[in-house]
Amino acid sequence: MRVILAQPRGFCAGVVRAIEIVERSLEKFGAPVYVRHEIVHNRHVVERLQRMGAVFVDQLDEIPDGAVTIFSAHGVAQSIIDEARTRGLPVLDATCPLVSKVHHQGKRYVARGRALILIGHAGHPEVEGTTGQVGAPVHLVSTVEDVARLELPDDAPVAYVTQTTLSVDDTRGVIAALQARFSDLEGPNVSDICYATQHRQSAVRDLCAAADLLLVVGSRNSSNSNRLREIGVEQGLPSHLIADGSELDPAWLKGVRTVGLTAGASAPEELVLDVIETLRRHGDVEVEQLDGVQETIEFRLPPELRSDVTVAPRKVATTVR
Ligand code: SF4
Repeated sequence: MRVILAQPRGFCAGVVRAIEIVERSLEKFGAPVYVRHEIVHNRHVVERLQRMGAVFVDQLDEIPDGAVTIFSAHGVAQSIIDEARTRGLPVLDATCPLVSKVHHQGKRYVARGRALILIGHAGHPEVEGTTGQVGAPVHLVSTVEDVARLELPDDAPVAYVTQTTLSVDDTRGVIAALQARFSDLEGPNVSDICYATQHRQSAVRDLCAAADLLLVVGSRNSSNSNRLREIGVEQGLPSHLIADGSELDPAWLKGVRTVGLTAGASAPEELVLDVIETLRRHGDVEVEQLDGVQETIEFRLPPELRSDVTVAPRKVATTVR
């Protein structure tokens, strides 16, 4: 059996930064540190950090006074930031800088008097964070049909922003519908919303052309991992999202000569290796990697956690925006 790995796959710069913020906080301030929401959507990552002393909570009122508090990579609503500030919680913000950029774009459009449309999925923490950041009503759309249902005049000044885990390809149809309907529409250059989402989706398309079966390593609640699997289905391939090798069903391998293997942006490489090891139990496996983009993007840590910047621990709360 051939196993072809997508390039790039797995961790993006925002996920690497968020995990490092938790690890360095534990090192610097000691356990426990409290993380609001899963730091990234991957059970293995969360469980490893729990073993190191991180405590994951859904609400700030579960965090004791004075405890080091970390916001997840998905971003939070302004009301959460205000609540943390009122309580004087020392906060480190692991919101991905590309998510923060979407928050700023949304606020700018609202400040210019435009009604804001967010292209994204209801209930996703990033969507809740962006909605709660802009300080004005946000109209959420996921599909072309949602655009037709928007209760806004066709000549109203409107603008759109998008959830970062949607790629240019995902949003193309909805943006076209917005352009067709609204005469005064503004939006960002979607090609620079999130390099990682676009790269992983392009790579999985290339992978599908070379494979008989697609396996995506990622958690069920990972939006970008689900999207990678859906692309496999769209390309006509049997496609499965698995958390690790233990979820591989040997029946999927019947008659398969080439397995395409990739991982969502929150899935660690060790889980990809675990899937390869599991595949080896079913026969000889030859592993190769597709040519693809080599990502070099890195995001800087908050100053409190950088070794090149000296900040007194009591000042840690200044990271609250
Ligand atoms: S997928 Fe993109 S926006 Fe989301 S954490 Fe990674 S780099 Fe940031």
